[in-house]
Amino acid sequence: MSKIVIAGAGYAGMMAAAYLDRQGIPFTLVNNHDYHYLTILLHEVAGGRDVGDKYKIPIKEVLRNDSSELVVATVTGIDRERRVLKTSEGEIGYDYLIYALGWVSEYFGIKGLKEYSLSITNLDSAVEIRRHIDEQFRLYKQDGDDRHLRIALGGAGLTGIELMGELLEYLPKLCRELDIPWEKVDVQCIEAMPTILPMVAEHLRPYVVETITKRGGKLRTNAKINEVTEGVIHLDGGEKVEAGTIVWTGGVRANPILSEAGFTVDRRGRAKVNAYLQSVDDEQIFVAGDSAWAEDENGRPYPPTAQNAEQMGPLAAKNILLRERRREMQPFKPRDWGTLCSLGSEVGVGSFLGVPIKGVMGALAKEGSKAKYLWELGGLRLAGNHAKEVVRI
Ligand SMILES: Cc1cc2nc3c(=O)[nH]c(=O)nc-3n(C[C@H](O)[C@H](O)[C@H](O)COP(=O)(O)OP(=O)(O)OC[C@H]3O[C@@H](n4cnc5c(N)ncnc54)[C@H](O)[C@@H]3O)c2cc1C
Repeated sequence: MSKIVIAGAGYAGMMAAAYLDRQGIPFTLVNNHDYHYLTILLHEVAGGRDVGDKYKIPIKEVLRNDSSELVVATVTGIDRERRVLKTSEGEIGYDYLIYALGWVSEYFGIKGLKEYSLSITNLDSAVEIRRHIDEQFRLYKQDGDDRHLRIALGGAGLTGIELMGELLEYLPKLCRELDIPWEKVDVQCIEAMPTILPMVAEHLRPYVVETITKRGGKLRTNAKINEVTEGVIHLDGGEKVEAGTIVWTGGVRANPILSEAGFTVDRRGRAKVNAYLQSVDDEQIFVAGDSAWAEDENGRPYPPTAQNAEQMGPLAAKNILLRERRREMQPFKPRDWGTLCSLGSEVGVGSFLGVPIKGVMGALAKEGSKAKYLWELGGLRLAGNHAKEVVRI
């Protein structure tokens, strides 16, 4: 059997690994931690709902087969000619590579944004946002400077709105704990486009606006960020928004490793793949998850979502096995389960299998989607083990 290496243990990489593990096929999984984390719940960590450890799943808990190997290392490059993955722990040779390193923040060239904002890129960064906010509120108690109580989120997509929902639930509690008047707190989300949540049906968006504004949050649209300096967002038109916490949630792109290795990439740095998720530049490399530039039959690129990543991972693994056995590979035809956006722990909005939902049903559906994922990843055992930690239905 050829040597299979999987780079990244996110939704795509873990599902690929779990697929091979169940088949008893040996592989090497390279990831920068010895745990998998639930990226789609990181707003809960950043927004103070729960501590980061509860969102971790030890990789060894999912992969039970002794033939598989986990290498904890940071991937730094790919030498396609030599078929070698370069990592912080040395080079790892492969016959087949499943590249699934996910995404990094996209700053669109906005001056100072990267330097002066926080962003949710992994579990550690989500923990850091919560720590930073807690610290700012404690600093307010010491010096009384209102700026510590101002939080500005850049981007009103899924991550920005979900984070806003969490903060509007957590911050009133923090205020009570620290004896800070809630009226002094300012949480605003700044969006350059005319609308929020483009992935959610238009008729559901007023519900989001109403829920957030009732809880004291501000949603601003048509507000373009020109520059960020320390503690200040400079908007188009000259307005300055001062905030002790600035979080950027406005965009993602693939890791530059792909363009540096000479893959054909789109404007978001994702590597172009064919219908079988095989790189168009290198038939020994499959790309899955947010790193893949995959298109449907009409040439529309699939969006970077966990549900696509979860379905791409196992298919990439399966297609490697089919190719090895000289059988026909299978095209990527994902099932669209819908999009769900939580607004705190109790309500949410979105669609499930084409049916629009909002309110408590939205929150329940979001919790259900997590349970489904854990079940698919590690069966009843994993879903059961982590039910108390990460699933609250
Ligand atoms: C707050 C938030 C909420 C979201 N909500 C939803 C949602 O409700 N529904 C939905 O479908 N999508 C949602 N998404 C998007 C979804 O999380 C991504 O589409 C999904 O995580 C992509 O999976 P992936 O496997 O490609 O990458 P990831 O899940 O990001 O996994 C990448 C893995 O690679 C590791 N890694 C990265 N770089 C390196 C390196 N250089 N070396 C070694 N290891 C590395 C990372 O640690 C990670 O384990 C959300 C995203 C965020 C941030």
